[in-house]
Amino acid sequence: MSAIKKVYDYIVIGGGSGGLASARRAAQYGAKVALIESSGRLGGTCVNVGCVPKKVMWNASAIQEAVGDAVDYGFPNTPLERALSAARVDWQLLKQKRDAYVHRLNGIYSNNLTREAVEYVSGRAQLVDASTVKVTPLDNSEDVHLRADKILIATGNRRSSFSMLLGGYPTIPKDIPGAELGITSDGFFELEQQPRRVAVVGAGYIAVELAGIFQSLGSQVSLFTRHHHILRSFDAIIGDTVLKEMVHSGINHVAHSFVRSVERTEDGALRVHYAHQARGDASPKDGETPLVHEEMVVDTLLWAIGRSPHVESLGLEKAGVKLNDKGYIVSDEYQNTHVPSVYALGDVCGIALLTPVAIAAGRKLSDRLFGGPEHHQAKLDYKDIPSVIFSHPPSGSVGLSEAEAREKFGDEVRVYNTRFTNMYNAMTNHKPPTVFKLVVVGKEEKVVGIHMVGRGCDEILQGFAVAVKMGARKQDLDSCVAIHPTSAEELVTMR
Ligand code: FAD
Ligand code: NDP
Repeated sequence: MSAIKKVYDYIVIGGGSGGLASARRAAQYGAKVALIESSGRLGGTCVNVGCVPKKVMWNASAIQEAVGDAVDYGFPNTPLERALSAARVDWQLLKQKRDAYVHRLNGIYSNNLTREAVEYVSGRAQLVDASTVKVTPLDNSEDVHLRADKILIATGNRRSSFSMLLGGYPTIPKDIPGAELGITSDGFFELEQQPRRVAVVGAGYIAVELAGIFQSLGSQVSLFTRHHHILRSFDAIIGDTVLKEMVHSGINHVAHSFVRSVERTEDGALRVHYAHQARGDASPKDGETPLVHEEMVVDTLLWAIGRSPHVESLGLEKAGVKLNDKGYIVSDEYQNTHVPSVYALGDVCGIALLTPVAIAAGRKLSDRLFGGPEHHQAKLDYKDIPSVIFSHPPSGSVGLSEAEAREKFGDEVRVYNTRFTNMYNAMTNHKPPTVFKLVVVGKEEKVVGIHMVGRGCDEILQGFAVAVKMGARKQDLDSCVAIHPTSAEELVTMR
């Protein structure tokens, strides 16, 4: 074992959303901090292969839709109409500009660490014991050993890479012959050309968002789901409304479907063999329900069936850090693991896999560990975390779904619904719906859930989430004068 090179107050493993936030906050309190990142790029999933490049693509798809709406708004019929309707994004140019933006962000994160005097150590970290971390530099030069009384694991979810594919990266099924010919969301951001025909497998955030982006930008998209419904962890109005809109926009939804095998065709495309149940809501199982076997040729197959925690080769067993049955690190509400000197947060813990959650948990932890006595109970409140799905139109949710509320509060629950067409679409042929649901409880009608789909919801939800967090009642929403003409005003005028 090489000698201990340096001793710190705090070692952070992982330079993503949670790790960066925690490291910087700790340094602001004067702690001596080292942050170790294994990919060579700071920012983690969100900046490199998640929220940021995804939102750029979603913005591009929104512009494409606006181009389509322009003629309905009276922009001249010819020749501009023809020019506009023919306008298609230059995928390569968009990718170049997007990559350059991400690259700029990588640099900004690096500068931030320098400014806060956090020592950035580039390499792969592994626990040697509960207070020692071995770092293998990316250039395979000699390992270094760092020591601290407090170590944070914020290693997120695994990324797909060729070597991981060989090892069987879980988001690409291992048991489907040819599955490795498909890509994951990481591969989406590497696509140099826009595929003409795309198959997306999955029913969660990533499947919905990327299928929608492809479709709006002009690809022909098929969405393969193993149940009938999508976004099943949300209130039913979200999945139902978004799915109808996806189908309306031209996405081919293949419900109750199971990909059986994938093969490369002679001309380089992919032939996807699948089985599906043509109709019905019940989940079919092989041998119980007759399945129709079909095939489809596509240019790209994208697996969006979930991600898994990045815990392999971390040496967790050497320090005694425990995992749950899904492989996530077990940490309590204060981000403590079973080992007193080791903390964990963010995606690697498997709860609310969202960037702002990792950031908030990281800051709270450093407040508690380094912020002095007034912060000794600091922790993130995981209740009522708002989240948006960048679907078409966008959708979002905070608090309990109607079903969750009914299970918890029974007959005390009351629901207010509204459905209307956004004024923007009064002028357009295409009329996507706006749907809002308020879930309230008890005589005082405390708002315990807000669920919405519609243009602008991605921006509207944040403010209403503040109200829910503050314990707003329905009458508090009603007492706020509406802003007209907006769609948000419907949330303060519901009957
Ligand atoms: P990460 O950001 O993944 O950071 C972990 C870091 O640890 C990585 O940089 C990794 O290289 C490093 N690491 C791993 N192992 C080691 C090791 N042994 N040594 C050193 N370093 C190591 N969330 C939202 O809130 N909004 C969105 O719109 C959104 N969109 C998304 C879109 C996609 C396609 C994806 C995949 C995710 C999206 N997310 C979104 C989720 C969000 O990106 C994650 O919740 C967030 O990045 C988690 O932060 P983290 O710090 O836990 O992990
Ligand atoms: P999700 O957990 O959201 O969705 C994965 C879905 O895939 C499951 O819900 C499941 O749906 C389906 N699935 C699982 N296994 C299979 C299978 N074998 N075959 C077919 N379908 C399968 O994960 P994602 O990968 O979409 O996203 C990961 C996380 O990243 C999210 O949970 C979210 O927290 C975060 N994220 C956030 C975003 C945002 O804030 N806008 C955007 C993107 C990601 P079912 O059970 O219905 O079949």
